[in-house]
Amino acid sequence: PVAATTLYDLIRAGDDAATALSSPGGVPLTFQALRALTDRTVAELNARGIGRGDRVAIVLPNGPEMAAAFIAVAAGTTSAPLNPSYKADEFEFYLTDLNAKLLIAADGSATPAAAVAEKLGLPVARLKPTPEEGAGSFTLAFADEAAEPTAKGGPAASEDIALVLHTSGTTSRPKIVPLTQTNVCASARNIRTALQFTAEDRGLNIMPLFHIHGLIAGILAPLSAGGQVSCTPGFNALKFFAWMDEVRPTWYTGVPTMHQAILGRAGRNAEIIARNPLRFIRSSSSSLPPQVMKELEETFSAPVIEAYGMTEAAHQMASNPLPPKPHYAGSVGLAAGPEIAIVDLAGEPVPAGETGEIVIRGDNVMKGYENNDKANAEAFTRQGWFRTGDQGTLSPEGYLSITGRLKEIINRGGEKISPREVDEILMDHPAVSQCVTFAMPHDKLGEDVAAAIVLREGVHAAEKDIKGFASERLAAFKVPAKILILDEIPKGATGKLQRIGLAQKLGLA
Ligand code: ATP
Ligand code: MG
Repeated sequence: PVAATTLYDLIRAGDDAATALSSPGGVPLTFQALRALTDRTVAELNARGIGRGDRVAIVLPNGPEMAAAFIAVAAGTTSAPLNPSYKADEFEFYLTDLNAKLLIAADGSATPAAAVAEKLGLPVARLKPTPEEGAGSFTLAFADEAAEPTAKGGPAASEDIALVLHTSGTTSRPKIVPLTQTNVCASARNIRTALQFTAEDRGLNIMPLFHIHGLIAGILAPLSAGGQVSCTPGFNALKFFAWMDEVRPTWYTGVPTMHQAILGRAGRNAEIIARNPLRFIRSSSSSLPPQVMKELEETFSAPVIEAYGMTEAAHQMASNPLPPKPHYAGSVGLAAGPEIAIVDLAGEPVPAGETGEIVIRGDNVMKGYENNDKANAEAFTRQGWFRTGDQGTLSPEGYLSITGRLKEIINRGGEKISPREVDEILMDHPAVSQCVTFAMPHDKLGEDVAAAIVLREGVHAAEKDIKGFASERLAAFKVPAKILILDEIPKGATGKLQRIGLAQKLGLA
């Protein structure tokens, strides 16, 4: 079959009576019902003057309605999901920056987004879940009078923007990424192919649905194979195993900090794990420490498939393959969709095995950041490759390993230090369960090495023990001058550990 290049076509992959969306304990929503909900929503928006190319901001809690609204809105207009935990000032910035035509917010929710929209004169539609008709079903109630119907009605075309998101803001201020229908469908297809999804697969989505990982890998990729996804209200390690027992998923995807939290509760849930075998566990969005991968594989008796994704690529760039092909700890696998190359500072390819910047090219990659000529001039090479800002190496077999992020390199008086290299050593200490190495300002050196760590439950270690351990394994200039032992390391909205800005957050700058 011809691969879908629009969301309207993508949701045609499932049989009428097959389940598309569900929620733990909820009534399943069939593909036929999802298609009907999509058609109705597009018609309602069109009747309100909102059509192809118009942006609809979506502020909803995680769950099946968020998944369904994202799809239904993007099928005929442009979805712009926003983090519901933003404050009023942030909503004002994003709603204005996005040039949104409508805000969809949860019925009865006191989100500041609604008040901000009113202030900006932006129409608001309240989404009321109708779970009795199937998980994710909803009706929209418009507060304002109907505008003139749009002339740009009906399903969106392949080159229309389906989704607008901001990057996570790990290395700089978040940038706006417009993704076409082709971009998101290509990424969904690439993930489906790498993970061999079929109509038999059942996903358990714990990823937030205002970021690319959850939207594409969590929702669209399995749906594009006619498979189903059960949508949780958001990650919760205490509820994870009850959901698992209820939904009986064949897989789930998460970020490393989630896997670690799940492992922390695995011991007391061994029976649930034993009676719910997983086909695989997927990890993406930041590097998975090899120790965590090993423990996950042992605990769940399932392969852990690490993948490499970014907003600008509509998520996936590389993925480890499923057995019988080998997957490796510390590698993000093979190019899984776009072409991948490693280049030097001048943009020229480096010999195999050497380190350089990872660049990509493919139908899942955005055309450019919005309203950001400066970032675009830096982001693309003359040959049209997109510069990821990540450093890595390709093995002769084509396995990609990420060695760091260009912007995160610590410059200690001219000595360049890869924070990942230090992380890897500290993670080898038996007492360390999480670790982030980062730059802290230094009077004379400019920057010096610092690390924040979380110890394993019930284990004690002092800063000097960890430093001593590092000193035996790292050149003196790489040993963190300061190691903070914390109960928790501050994370970004996606659950990512952020090196940049951490010194300020932890009072070291
Ligand atoms: P910003 O671009 O605003 O600084 P961000 O890059 O964190 O934020 P995302 O698009 O959410 O925003 O994340 C993409 C980045 O995440 C990649 O460029 C890479 O650095 C990192 N990443 C993703 N998957 C992996 C992985 N498996 N291993 C290591 N790093 C990863
Ligand atoms: Mg980035």
